[in-house]
Amino acid sequence: MNKRPDQARPTPRAGIMDIDAYVPGKSTAPAGVAKVYKLSSNENPLGPSPKAIEAAREVAAKLDVYPDGTARRLREAIAEVHGLNAANIICSNGSDEILGLLAQTYLAPGDEAIFTEHAFMVYKIYIQSAGATPVAVKETDERADIDAILAAVTPRTKIVFLANPNNPTGTYVPFQEVRRLHASLPKNVLLVLDAAYAEYVRRNDYEAGIELAGSAENVVMTRTFSKLGLGGARIGWMYGPMHIVDAINRIRGPFNVNATAIEAGIAAIRDRAHVERSVMHNEKWLTWLSEELTKLGLRVTPSVGNFLLIHFPDDKKHSAAAADDYLAARGFILRRVSGYGFPNALRMSIGTEEANRGVIAALATFLKS
Ligand SMILES: *Cc1c(COP(=O)(O)O)cnc(C)c1O
Repeated sequence: MNKRPDQARPTPRAGIMDIDAYVPGKSTAPAGVAKVYKLSSNENPLGPSPKAIEAAREVAAKLDVYPDGTARRLREAIAEVHGLNAANIICSNGSDEILGLLAQTYLAPGDEAIFTEHAFMVYKIYIQSAGATPVAVKETDERADIDAILAAVTPRTKIVFLANPNNPTGTYVPFQEVRRLHASLPKNVLLVLDAAYAEYVRRNDYEAGIELAGSAENVVMTRTFSKLGLGGARIGWMYGPMHIVDAINRIRGPFNVNATAIEAGIAAIRDRAHVERSVMHNEKWLTWLSEELTKLGLRVTPSVGNFLLIHFPDDKKHSAAAADDYLAARGFILRRVSGYGFPNALRMSIGTEEANRGVIAALATFLKS
């Protein structure tokens, strides 16, 4: 029997096959490399909080029991540490999940959602998966340009995603500018402030967005535990107005945050000493690496996160691709960022002292070769 091709097997709905799947950072080195330093996913070189490890061990004996579907104790711990109202928080399976839920809740086919040129890639994926139209706007000096974002707003715009600081550039938008963006956006446009790296930022003119998300009807702030040592536990959260919390709660999975994540998360966020150690380590080595890379003649984008974007020379022999191969052969796994519009750059997560010194030594030899 002749069947039309679209009846021969299930077909994804329109647009799904146009999506380029997210490619995570590599985690393996070529065969034969003795020691691997994974510097490709912005993980915490100090590892998880020892208290989180302990809490995860304890919950292991009770894995038969469903978690609390509202993650109440985790929300309360977050609320206590950040001075928030726990009712305005939703926890999620990584902040990726909450970004996806926001797109699913507020976007329909024909709608537009804005993000910037070199922004974190998952926004585009979730916009497309909601059937809406992704609108990428130009950055200025590898930084989000508020005027360019405002110029891209149309009557069809429903969401603006702003990664602040952004990944993979590490640049940030001072809060005055974020407020100006918010003040000029139509009230029906949702402003999503993705503050995944907020804990690492040491700048007086930076704010993650707590005040704005706590007072405006069209702003949410998203956060994550991933960059502070719990990437594997998958814990993210959103803070925002009740009407948005209510809408998201209607479509999220009923037990979207698992029991291990809840217990590890509560222990981790209360372990302020571990957070402080992680931030101090980052501060020290971010500065050191920026200086050393600059001395080697490489341009680095000024970063306030726990990673650096390193730009390579134009000659083929010393390109980002060549550097990536050279470093990987020595166990240093960095992140290719061609998909982010940087074909000749690598993103390096701040690592342990050994990893950081190792990369600089290897690059010094590579650049002389
Ligand atoms: C890592 C990252 C996230 C999300 O991480 P999760 O592990 O899903 O919480 C969100 N936004 C940016 C900009 C990131 O770099």
